[in-house]
Amino acid sequence: MINRIRTGIVSVTMIEKMEVELLDVDKLIEEFESVTKNAENVQRDTLKKILEENGCAEYLQNLGLNGRTDPESFKACVPLVTHDDLEPYIQRIVGGSSSPILTGKPITTISLSSGTTQGKPKFVPFNDELMETTLQIYRTSYAFREREFPIENGKALQFIYSSKQSNTKDGLIAGTATTNVFRNSQFKNAMKAMQSQCCSPDEVIFGPDFHQSLYCHLLCGLIFREEVQFVSSTFSHSIVHAFRTFEQVWEELCADIRGGVLTSRITYPSVRLAMAKLLKPNPELADLIHEKCSGLNNWYGLIPSLFPNAKYICGIMTGSMEPYLKKLRHYAGGLPLLSSDYGSSEGWIGANVNPKVPPESATYVVLPNIGYFEFIPLKENAEEHVQDKVSNSFLSKEPKPVGLTEVKVGEEYEIIITSFGGLYRYRLGDVVKVTGFHNSSPELKFVCRRNLMLTINIDKNTEKDLQLAVEAASKLNAEEKLEVLDFSSHVDLSTDPGHYVIFWEINGEVGDEVLKECCNCLDRSFVDAGYVSSRKVNSIGPLELRVVRKGTFQNILDHYIGLGAALSQFKTPRCVGPRNSEVLRILCDNVVKSYLSTAF
Ligand code: AMP
Repeated sequence: MINRIRTGIVSVTMIEKMEVELLDVDKLIEEFESVTKNAENVQRDTLKKILEENGCAEYLQNLGLNGRTDPESFKACVPLVTHDDLEPYIQRIVGGSSSPILTGKPITTISLSSGTTQGKPKFVPFNDELMETTLQIYRTSYAFREREFPIENGKALQFIYSSKQSNTKDGLIAGTATTNVFRNSQFKNAMKAMQSQCCSPDEVIFGPDFHQSLYCHLLCGLIFREEVQFVSSTFSHSIVHAFRTFEQVWEELCADIRGGVLTSRITYPSVRLAMAKLLKPNPELADLIHEKCSGLNNWYGLIPSLFPNAKYICGIMTGSMEPYLKKLRHYAGGLPLLSSDYGSSEGWIGANVNPKVPPESATYVVLPNIGYFEFIPLKENAEEHVQDKVSNSFLSKEPKPVGLTEVKVGEEYEIIITSFGGLYRYRLGDVVKVTGFHNSSPELKFVCRRNLMLTINIDKNTEKDLQLAVEAASKLNAEEKLEVLDFSSHVDLSTDPGHYVIFWEINGEVGDEVLKECCNCLDRSFVDAGYVSSRKVNSIGPLELRVVRKGTFQNILDHYIGLGAALSQFKTPRCVGPRNSEVLRILCDNVVKSYLSTAF
């Protein structure tokens, strides 16, 4: 895998010279082509491997597989499950049981998924095998990016953050999945081999306060501005969040660079010490950045003007990240935006191997050797799907999943994962559409979270429908040069009839007339037949647009960080259900204006 050797200066102190072994891009692509050409057999082998490695686990022992590893026996013996079904097993692992419960080898690390959809983080097992599949995904998409947009040996401005990583009372390590990856001993070397070394020191990435880490990431980026080859984060929300913060703190950053002294707002000694090693008085750089920023029109093209050698911006940009694309494009000027990969704390799924495609159309090719994948066709299981939307939970009726190579182009499916991390036929809760095949492995477009639905009676609106409605309505806003910074929604059943509530945080002052029109436009933009007919007969009440105070979505973010989430994995909850009462309270307490639609 590693055959090109280049020498680069990688030490922060610039004293040491180290050999940096770069990945062989052609070989990586060749390997990917080979496994995707043979997807069906590779899936069979992968399942066999998973079941052989974990056959002695209590969970599988109880299901009567008796050593069989073929897909047919697997499907006959192992039920489809949700996280709730596995919770008792996971709790025993968290509780310190070292017997093989879900995996053959005992689990020593637990990941916390972002939990932004359910309101609280979920625990899922993490192990070396999941780390290896993570790196495999990273390497694959890197290889395809490298082919289209080659980078030079330099640095990456990565807005990555660690959550609080804690030890459970029984000695297990628990942190978000990304934290577990960033802390893994293999991570740094893997990043070096991908020429993607983060320009911030570890003390910043693992700093205890993400506001302080963010400030220092920006400062490190500016110090290494000539070397920065690309700007990235796990989810692109973090990049937008970082440059919105830059708009507030840029003069302070310039002052730090000018004097070579870190602002007193950074209080953690370890972070201060690490930054002191990098920060030297540099009035020329401070003047240059000042001049660049002062010359920009409303911060358009900020990223390329700060980082003249950046080749692209990269991070997950699909799904709930799409609403940030407009702002990201604004900061990016002409720099390409590349959506990275598709996966979850539970396991990775696919890599983006067509990085030139705009993020709105990005698809992910499933890697058939990183897990065993099944797909529940949503068309055939439409009845379950509809009821599911109402109850927000899965029904007992067993749907019929198909295998990886049996999916059909144009159809939508719910993904089922069997991983190397102890999850067997696990309903991830994501809906994807098959857009084509790369060799014999499907290309998936992320559609939405399955349980994120606005629904009162016969209406069904997904996260995507909400996003399109907000996009349409905010265009009215755009004419006044105002922007929707973030949004969420809620079904209010306390009124009779119930109605949709959309929360908006907007930038600047917007007149009542415009917001009333936005509210009507939102109501009209939900074109689902069930919604429109219910609105016409008033079995769903007028949609309500509630404008919230500036900073409300930052409060929501802080709330999740307080629960142990990390900025790296944060996704704004787009539909806030009753289980998420604290977020609903934050939204409702911050409403400054509200409007009821008169569209129907
Ligand atoms: P987490 O709960 O933090 O592990 O996040 C995993 C979830 O993020 C997935 O189940 C998806 O809903 C979403 N996600 C991950 N990757 C992508 C992607 N490339 N596009 C859209 N959504 C994604």
